This record gives sequence, structure tokens and C-alpha cells, in this order.
Amino acid sequence: MNQSKINNFLFKNITSIRGVGVKMKKLLKRKKIEKISDLLLNIPRGFTDRTNIKTLDKLQIGKITTIKVKVIKYNFPRIRNLPNKVICEDSKGRIDIIFFNSREGYVRKILPINSFVVISGKINFFNKKYQITNPPYIVPYEKENYVNKIIPKYSLTEGLTEKNYRKLIDSVLNSIQELNEWHNNEVLKEIGNVGWLESINEIHSSKNSDIDSKFYKRLAYDEILSNLLVLSEVRKRVRKIKKKSKTFDNLYLKKILNNFNFTLTMNQNKIIKEITNDLKSDHKMFRLLQGDVGSGKTIIAFIAAANVVRSSFQVALMAPTEILAKQHYTLAKKIFKKTDVILDLVTGKTDPKIKKNIYQHLKEGKINFVIGTHSLFQKNIHFRNLGLVIIDEQHKFGVKQRIELSNKGGKDCDILLMSATPIPRTLMLAVYGDMDVSRLIEKPLNRREIITISKPEEKINEILIYIKKKIKEKNQIFWVCPLIEESKKLDYSAAISKYKDLSKVFPKRTGLIHGSLDKNEKDEVLTRFLKKEIDVLISTTVIEVGIDFPNANVIIIENSNKFGLSQLHQLRGRVGRGEKQGTCILLYKKNLSENAKKRIRILKSSNDGFFIAEEDMKLRGFGDILGYQQSGIKDFRLADPIHHENLFKIAEKNLKVIEADKENFLKYEFLLKLFDKADIINEINLD
Ligand code: ADP
Ligand code: MG
Repeated sequence: MNQSKINNFLFKNITSIRGVGVKMKKLLKRKKIEKISDLLLNIPRGFTDRTNIKTLDKLQIGKITTIKVKVIKYNFPRIRNLPNKVICEDSKGRIDIIFFNSREGYVRKILPINSFVVISGKINFFNKKYQITNPPYIVPYEKENYVNKIIPKYSLTEGLTEKNYRKLIDSVLNSIQELNEWHNNEVLKEIGNVGWLESINEIHSSKNSDIDSKFYKRLAYDEILSNLLVLSEVRKRVRKIKKKSKTFDNLYLKKILNNFNFTLTMNQNKIIKEITNDLKSDHKMFRLLQGDVGSGKTIIAFIAAANVVRSSFQVALMAPTEILAKQHYTLAKKIFKKTDVILDLVTGKTDPKIKKNIYQHLKEGKINFVIGTHSLFQKNIHFRNLGLVIIDEQHKFGVKQRIELSNKGGKDCDILLMSATPIPRTLMLAVYGDMDVSRLIEKPLNRREIITISKPEEKINEILIYIKKKIKEKNQIFWVCPLIEESKKLDYSAAISKYKDLSKVFPKRTGLIHGSLDKNEKDEVLTRFLKKEIDVLISTTVIEVGIDFPNANVIIIENSNKFGLSQLHQLRGRVGRGEKQGTCILLYKKNLSENAKKRIRILKSSNDGFFIAEEDMKLRGFGDILGYQQSGIKDFRLADPIHHENLFKIAEKNLKVIEADKENFLKYEFLLKLFDKADIINEINLD
């Protein structure tokens, strides 16, 4: 096969392999295997050594053994549920081969009487006889080589045997003998100097191809690069979209800033400048504003919004929850009074009549800044001239959603995403390579570091005395209940019983919020907390991101060792958002693991979300880090940011070279198709 034939072949549906029918297709789909190349990327979970060949007098119970025997006699019981039995022998002894759930015809076919066969499986001893039950491998003598080796184990699904799967893999590998290299020599050297095909072959046949081997790394590198390439291409194409530029009015900005009782930090000012430049340019903005909890992102977004409105465009801001949308709305009303910003709020709860009215006004351009929940993005909402979309705290946005968002806004619409989920450096490009990124690192000057304390649970009485005092000083308290194995039901009962206990200590001044409440019920409790009708809010981890509770200054986290670092940091960020001192108390049960101790130590030592994200990755691996789950990074099949940190760096460096050289993107087409990235790019609407 030549190169283009190989490409065509690998990206065909698996049904084009001989012997793969509808049934097999369904089974394979369960393992996310649809095109032929997917077979190759489903890499072995381990290997079984079947080179241990023994005569029947040397068998050891429990050992995986390969035997060479002659089929002597069948024993097919007439009683249902009893297994079929085949007696085999070699010059040294006899053995029973046992088949559960098998048909007689099948057994006769694979073990014809008087034939010589090679059988591999685990040796058992039953009724004073050796036996192998449902052996995974039975082949005729001539095919000994197929079994007598180290054999890969795959994660498969019921109905799909290892033997069948191996046949598929072998047939695919046999069809491709050679593949053109797409990396240049320099890069190749850096990643171990092995070709893709060689690596794929090794991965499927050699025990020495684990996650740190050069073969594995080569494949992982390709995956990382494909990811960076596609994001970079999205970015380039979005940037090429021409838009009407927005103007910028300094006097107007001053007027708005006068409504604040604080001055912006240098970092905030710098980012406002970056955004302003984007808005002023005739290229579409596609920017992420990433900043730790409480770093002051909202103000930045509002200033951007004001400029866009001033340029006669409309702005839409979408928040993840009703209450956050309302909070943004209230703040905006305060900030934009006596300006020409005309505001409104649309949430799921807005009265349908009023909603209709708002929609009409949006269409006519009478409202120029609308704030809301995702109900803002319904099909029946039309804007007169939308110039900026701001998305706050939307963790579930992967690259596909971002493209969709950009398309929806139209070409004159700039996009600003805001997130409080810090991402470790290694992963930044792999997650957000399609966007420009502004990082808000500095916290407002008036902000004090949250004090973090850890206490064993036995000292809960001390805590109660402490919070009584805090309440007297007009502070409010969050009490986060233990997370019990991710089960909502158990979380719920733990929170309820804590609520009952604390209600006795703080009569009529406690509230409860947990995952089983619906949105309205949650909002009601949170609103009461905001209005200070409640002193202590008991909750599971559902306390919404982004909401400002200026008066909540103490957070108590029970069983804190059950939470990950990033999650603890996010929870801690619920307090200390005003000028008063915030305190976070981590309660723990005795006998903490080393890892849990480390987590607590890190939290006590730092309030820096970016630093904590790095540490979290080191401790737990990237799969668990808050916010990644939905970001698309978890889709990596091979690459692992901890094991392969260096590969991420090489890919980043190489990406720059590829971009600078204007090297043909097509060169990497194979790679993009391999990892299902090719289609993403075409989803961008260019006009
Ligand atoms: P986040 O980045 O988590 O969205 P917010 O924008 O909600 O943070 O800001 C948190 C709090 O800090 C708000 O009460 C806001 O008014 C306040 N704030 C923002 N910028 C400053 C600043 N430069 N100085 C003082 N307080 C500020
Ligand atoms: Mg916010």
C-alpha cells in the first residue's frame, strides 16, 4: 500500500475489514472503536506470558501454562448446566479441558478427535485431576507461534474475545508495512527516534512498551501535538474573521470608575488594556480571562461591556446560575447608573410576558446590556447587533462549545470567557490553545489572605465557641459537610443530621442546601443567606461558584481530607471576599494519610490558585483536577501530563516552529484524523 492508500484504509469504518459484521461493529463501538485506526489506539492493558510450555507431569496449579497435547475423548453430559469436557494427553499424562456455556458442535470443531493442539490457560485441580477451564487459546500444532509468546491483554467487552481482537489487530498491522514520517529529524530525536508504525507495533506486542517507553511516548507525543495543532488552527481561523472594530472612550470609563469605592489593581488595568486592544482591532476577540476566585474579574468584564455599548453594540453576559446572574445584574445597575447602558435580566424564572418584552427590546436594540443564565442562548432570541458575549464560570465549555458560541454571536461579536479554575502550565495550551489568555494573578489590595487552620474533629467544641464569637461580630458561616463517596443520598443525610445538630446550637439561624434541592429551592436558601436571615449555612459542595457573600467570612470544611486540593481551594474562596479577615477551618478525622497531610500543608501555606493547581496535578494526576473533567483534556487516550510533561513542552516548542514556518497543515492531516480532530476546524463559521 502506498501512503494515500494507507490513509484511506486506516480511516475506513471497521466493517470494511473482512469478518467484521454488524454484531462485531456494535461490540467494538462500545469500546469507542469505529474506524480501523481506533483498533490500533486501543492499546493493551498489560501482557500475559504464554511462553511457559510444560509437559503434563510438570504442571503447577494456578499458573498460566501452555501445553501441547492430543485430543483423546469427549465427555458431553446430557444434563443442562454441566460443562462439556474433553480429555487430552501427551506422553507424560492426561488433562481435562472444560467448557462452560459451550455448544457441543463448537467443541468438536476446535478440538477434533485425535488432533494435535496447543492449549494455553490457567491450570486448575479438580476431582484429583488437572484441568483448564475455558482456555482462551486453542490452536493446531502448526500455529504454535501464535500462542507461544507474550500476548497483549485488551480492555474488551463481553462477546469480544482477546483472540478475535488480536486477529483484527494483526490483520490491520499486516496491511501497513510502511508509513511516511511527519516529524522532522530534530523533533524525532527529541521524542526517542522511533517511527509511528514501529511504535504501534511495539505497543501491541512487547511488554517493554509501558507509559515511559520511547514507543509509548512517541504515540503520546503525536496525540499531544494533534491537540495543540487543532486548537492553534481554530485560533488562527477565528482571528482571521474580520469585524467592525469598537471605539474606546476614556472619559466615559472615568465616569464609571467613579462609581467604585476602590481603585483597580495594576493587573486589572493591564488586562483591561489587552481586552480594549482586542475590541478596538478589526479581528474578532476570542479571549479567556482566567483569575483565581475573588480576584476581581467581574469589573473587568463590565468595563469591556461599557465600551462595547458605547460603540453602539449590544452585550450579553451569561452566568451559570440564576443567583449569580442576579448578583451581576444588581452590581451592573449600580455601576452603570447615569450612563447610556440600558440593562435587563433574563433568567429561567423571568415572567414569560416580561421575557417576551425583553426579547422584543433586544431585537430592536432598546436594551444594550442583557445579563442572564443560559436561557439567554435560546434560538428565539435575536439581537439587533450583538458585539460582545461574556461567559462567566462556565466549566463545561470545551473547544466545540467555544466554536459554537463564536458562531452564534456572528462575526462582529467578540467573545470573553471567564474562569476561576486555574490550569497548570503544562496543560494551558492543550486546554485553551484556541484562545488568547489573560491571567489575573494579583488580588485586590484590600484583600487579606484567608487564614487556613486544620483541626481534628474531636475539637469541634472549640470550633463552636469560635463561630459563636464570629457571629456576634456580625459574620456569617459556611459549614461544608463531608463528601461521602460521591453519593448524593449519603451527602444529603450527613448534611441533614449536621443541620439538626447545629440548629440546636443556633436556633432559627441555620439554613441547609444540598444537591437534592431544585434550583428554586437552592436560590431561596442562598437569598436568605445573602439577606443575613441565616447565620450558618450548612451545605454539601453545592455552594455555587462566583457568588459574592461579602459577609461570609468563615468556612468550615468537615472531613476535608476527602476533597482534592483544587476543590478545597475553590471552597475556601467562598469567604474573605470583602475587607474582613476570612478564615477557613479544615476538620479532619484522625490518622490522615501522607497525601492528605500534604494537601492540608499546601493549603495552609498558599492562597495562590495557580500554585495549588500545579501541586494538585502532582498529587493526583490531571484526571481529577476540578474543571478538567469537562474541558476536553480528559479525552487524551495516551498522553499523561505528569508522565509526559516534557512531551508537552516539546510539542509547545514544535508548534511554534510549525506555525512560524507556515508549514503545510496538511502534513499533519493523518495525525488529526487519527485523533478525530480534523472535523472540529470545519465547524468554524467564517462569515
Ligand atoms: P471573581 O474574579 O471571583 O469573579 P469578583 O469580580 O466577584 O471576583 O470580585 C470579588 C470582589 O472583589 C467583589 O466584591 C469586587 O467588588 C471586589 N473587587 C474587585 N476589584 C477590586 C479592587 N481592585 N479593589 C478592591 N476590591 C475589588
Ligand atoms: Mg466571578
